Amino acid sequence: MGNESLANLMTEERRFAPPAEVVADANVTADAYTAAAEDRLGFWAEQARRLSWETEPTEVLDWSNPPFAKWFADGRINVAYNCVDRHVEAGHGDRVAIHFEGEPGDSRSLTYAELLREVSQAAHALTELGVEAGDRVAIYMPMIPETVVAMLACARIGAPHSVVFGAFSADALATRIEDADAKVVITSDGGYRRGAPSALKPAVDEALTRPGVAGRVRNVLVVRRTGQDIPWQDGRDLWWHEMTERQPAEHTPQAFDAEHPLFILYTSGTTGKPKGILHTTGGYLTQIAYTHHAVFDLKPETDVYWCTADVGWVTGHSYIVYGPLANGATEVLYEGTPNTPHNGRWWEIVQKYGVTLLYTAPTAIRACMKWGDDIPARFDLSSLRVLGSVGEPINPEAWIWYRKHIGADRTPVVDTWWQTETGGIMISPLPGVTLAKPGSAQVPLPGISATVLDDEGNEVPDGSGGYLALTEPWPSMLRTIWGDDQRYLDTYWSRFPGRYFAGDGAKKDDDGDIWLLGRVDDVMLVSGHNISTTEVESALVSHPRIAEAAVVGATDPQTTQAICAFVILRGGSDAGDEDGALVEELRKHVAKVLGPIAKPQRILPVEELPKTRSGKIMRRLLRDVAEDRELGDMTTLTDATVMELIQAKLPGAS
Ligand code: ATP
Ligand code: MG
Repeated sequence: MGNESLANLMTEERRFAPPAEVVADANVTADAYTAAAEDRLGFWAEQARRLSWETEPTEVLDWSNPPFAKWFADGRINVAYNCVDRHVEAGHGDRVAIHFEGEPGDSRSLTYAELLREVSQAAHALTELGVEAGDRVAIYMPMIPETVVAMLACARIGAPHSVVFGAFSADALATRIEDADAKVVITSDGGYRRGAPSALKPAVDEALTRPGVAGRVRNVLVVRRTGQDIPWQDGRDLWWHEMTERQPAEHTPQAFDAEHPLFILYTSGTTGKPKGILHTTGGYLTQIAYTHHAVFDLKPETDVYWCTADVGWVTGHSYIVYGPLANGATEVLYEGTPNTPHNGRWWEIVQKYGVTLLYTAPTAIRACMKWGDDIPARFDLSSLRVLGSVGEPINPEAWIWYRKHIGADRTPVVDTWWQTETGGIMISPLPGVTLAKPGSAQVPLPGISATVLDDEGNEVPDGSGGYLALTEPWPSMLRTIWGDDQRYLDTYWSRFPGRYFAGDGAKKDDDGDIWLLGRVDDVMLVSGHNISTTEVESALVSHPRIAEAAVVGATDPQTTQAICAFVILRGGSDAGDEDGALVEELRKHVAKVLGPIAKPQRILPVEELPKTRSGKIMRRLLRDVAEDRELGDMTTLTDATVMELIQAKLPGAS
C-alpha cells in the first residue's frame, strides 16, 4: 500500500427516503442509535432479552483478555429451543417455518410444530450415534429442509456443526473434515442443480479415503433426496429417514453455556486459504436475532422472508437458519439456481409465496440486469417491501436497478456489510430510518462501532478513505480461528492494535456515511494515488452498455500499476465492438465520472468473470492474466473454463 489514503472519487447524489408505510410501523427507529450510543452494553443486554434463556445472564461483555471476548458468559441457553420450541409453546405451532421449493418444482411446507418434531428426532438420532456435546459434525448438503433440521439438531445437543458448501470438491470437504475433526458427516444422495440430479455422497466417500481423514468419521448419515444410485459402506453409512423416523417425537433440550461453540465455518476463500471461523452461542444468537429484526423490519405474523444464499455460507447460517427462526419467521428455502428452468424462476417464487422481504447478492442482481428488465416485469412482485444485498460492494447502478425493477421504485434497499468473522450484519441502513444512498452501506447498526482508519491507525476525516476497522467488540464476533489463536491475532488484531482489521478498504463521505471499496489487496496504486477497484467498476457499470465489470491493477513501469478492466456487455458480447469504438467510449466515460487518473489503460469485453462459489469476483486471477503470469490457485473458482475463455480473448492469444 502507498502512503496516500485511498482515493475518494465517486460522488453519488441520488437519495431515497424510506417509504411512509415502512416508517409508520418500523421495528426500529432512530432512537435505537441514541440508546446504544449512551449505553452500548446495556443496549446489547436488552437485545439478549429477545431470547429465552434457561439462566439469564448477569454479565454482558468480558473483555479482560482481549481480543478473546466472552459475551453473556454466565447465561445458559439452547439455540434450537429458541429457534423452534418456544414458538410452538407460544401457540404458533401451525405457522409455516419453511416453504421449501425444490428445483424440479416439488414443494413442501413445514410448520414450526413439524420442524420441532423433525429436529427432536434428529437430535435423538445423533445421540444414538454417540454424538455428544462438543463433538463436531460435518454437514455437506443441498438446500433442502433436512439441512436446516440437521443444523438445529446439532445445536440442540451442543455438537458444533461445520457446514461445507455442497458444490465443494472432495478435497475441500476432506480438509475441512480434518481441520474440524468431525466424527459424523451428514449428507444426501444428491440434490437438483441446473435441471439434473447432482450427486453429493460420492464426494463424501472420496473425502473419507484421504490421508488425515480416513478412520476419523464413524458414521455418514444420508438423506434421500434424488433417489439416485450411490455407493454404500455397511456399518458406516446410515439412511437419515431410517435413523430419525423411529425416534421419539419429543426431546428435552439441554441448556449450554453462552460461550459453548455453536459452529465452525470456513471463509469463502476469496483471498487465500480458508480460515475456520469459530462462533459461539449466546452472543451470536442475540446479534443475529436483533439484526434480522432491525434490518429487515420483520413482522413474523405477516412477512414471508427469503434469503437466496446457500446455507454453506455464513449468510445462510445467520439469515436462513438462526436469525429468521429465532424470530419466528416464515421463510422460503429454494434448492436450485436462479435460471432453472428459466431466467424468471426467482420472480416466479416471489409471486408464488408472496415474498415480502428478499435478501440476495450483487452477483445475482447483476446477472438479472444482464438477462433483461422484461423478465422480472412478467411477474407480480408487488408483495415485496424490503430488499437486501450482501457479499460484495453493490454498484450504485445495480442498486438502482434492484430498487426499480424488483422493488417497483418503492422498496428500501439495504446494503448490508459484514463477514463470516462478524457473524452478523454490522453496517447497514435501517429501512424505516435511513435516507438511502445507492452503493453505500452507510452507518454501523446500533450497538456497533466501525470506522475508517489511515495507515497510521488514525480515524480519517469525513471525505477521505482508508481501512475499515471495528473499534469495539460485538456479540456475534468470531471467538478465534479454530485451532489457531495465533492466526486469529495476526489476521485481525495486529494491523491496528486493539481494533479489528476487516481487510476491506472504505471511505467516509462528507456526511460520514461509509462506502466499501473492496479488498485492501485489490486496491490499485496508480501514479501515486490509491484507487479502488470498486469505484472504477461502479463507474463502468453506470454506462448503459455494461452489465458487470472487474478491475485490477497490473504492474506498469510508468505508473506503478495500470488500470485494467474486464467487462461484460449487456445483451452479451455478440453485441460486439470490432472497431474498438465502444472501448474508447468506456475509457472516456470513466474519466468523466471519476477523473482522468482513473481512466483504464485497457478494457477487455469478456463473456464471464471468474467467481468464487459464493459468487464473488476473484480479481487476483484477473491480475495474473493482466500481468501475463501463470494463474494462481483456482480451487475455489466456480468454473475454471472461464479463465481459458478470458485468456483466449487477449491480444496475442493463439
Ligand atoms: P476470505 O476471507 O477467505 O478471502 P471472503 O472474505 O470472501 O473470503 P466472506 O466472509 O464470505 O468471505 O465475505 C466477507 C467479505 O465480503 C467482506 O470482507 C467484504 O469484502 C465483502 N462484502 C460483504 N458484504 C459486503 C457489502 N455489503 N459491501 C461490500 N463488500 C461486502
Ligand atoms: Mg474475508
